[in-house]
Amino acid sequence: MSDIIQLLPDHVANQIAAGEVVQRPASVVKELMENAIDANATEIKLIIKDAGKTLVQVIDNGKGMSVTDARLSFERHATSKIRAAEDLFQLNTKGFRGEALASIAAIAHVELKTKQDEDDLGTAIVIEGSEVKSQEVVVTPTGTSVAVKHLFFNIPARRNFLKSDTVELRHISDEFHRVALAHPNIAFSFYHNGSDLFNVPQENYRQRVVHIFGTKTNEKLVPVEEETEVLKISGFVGKPNFSKKTKSEQFFFVNQRFIKSPYLNHAIKSAFEGLLKDGYHPSYFLNLTVDPKSIDINIHPTKTEIKFDDEHTLYAILRSAVKHSLGQFNIAPVLDFEH
Ligand code: ADP
Ligand code: MG
Repeated sequence: MSDIIQLLPDHVANQIAAGEVVQRPASVVKELMENAIDANATEIKLIIKDAGKTLVQVIDNGKGMSVTDARLSFERHATSKIRAAEDLFQLNTKGFRGEALASIAAIAHVELKTKQDEDDLGTAIVIEGSEVKSQEVVVTPTGTSVAVKHLFFNIPARRNFLKSDTVELRHISDEFHRVALAHPNIAFSFYHNGSDLFNVPQENYRQRVVHIFGTKTNEKLVPVEEETEVLKISGFVGKPNFSKKTKSEQFFFVNQRFIKSPYLNHAIKSAFEGLLKDGYHPSYFLNLTVDPKSIDINIHPTKTEIKFDDEHTLYAILRSAVKHSLGQFNIAPVLDFEH
């Protein structure tokens, strides 16, 4: 008889987990921005170089970390956001797995600087491939800066798999827009190779949508508001005559988290029935608020899919709210002159 099973060393386990959490530079952007939001930041700055392949840095003015927490934040399953399994069913934070920083640090060079308001000095930590290279006491503003350099430096296959800068930048912009749309009360800025791509102050939702999608968007927005016992809806749909051939303006946020839901998308489409030309898609920017206990976010590491307790009810409420809004704005069916 011979035993052959061994526990994997932490850095190997982290590298495996990283494969799920970090697909590309945009995944790093998402994780770091979500951490900044969970830290109650009111200002978040994203700096990238070479479409994130050389640098992804997120600087926030949130609550920062103590020295001990700064070090612990890179451990796997180390989180301040949940304490017990029950907490998974009443999440008010974006994070909860305690995996992002450990995963990122396993496959990149990471420089963390952080300080809490009550402390005079902060902490700087450098980690490369899960190995702590240095830890120092530093002068730094309250909040946190995480710089991720040389992503996938130790996984050549992954690095080679990255697409052109144009494609990777588009993924990052998509991720950035989703987060910025979900949080109009936070000021965001975004720099790529030294140039300023995006800069928005704290503002209301309509202003944020217009800032992201352009001034012309303003006249096409039809407000959707509804509140029932199980679901609160707020946001906008686009007037049918402004519909697009692509699905690039379709956004659902559930409790301020961007999600994809073909089922709920269908509810909107069906509310637009008879109003859209063939091959056109409605625009929507909708915030759904539900009891955190009625959803399960823990079904995929990137958390863009969630499970609702009662999808059918949500479908019906959503469809009727959108129909009502479209009706109120007196929108005549689109006449198809092509036939
Ligand atoms: P999770 O977000 O799932 O808890 P992460 O690996 O992303 O896991 O982060 C681990 C922990 O590090 C967080 O729970 C939080 O306590 C701390 N942390 C990470 N980023 C920040 C930040 N920008 N500001 C303050 N604390 C942070
Ligand atoms: Mg996180």
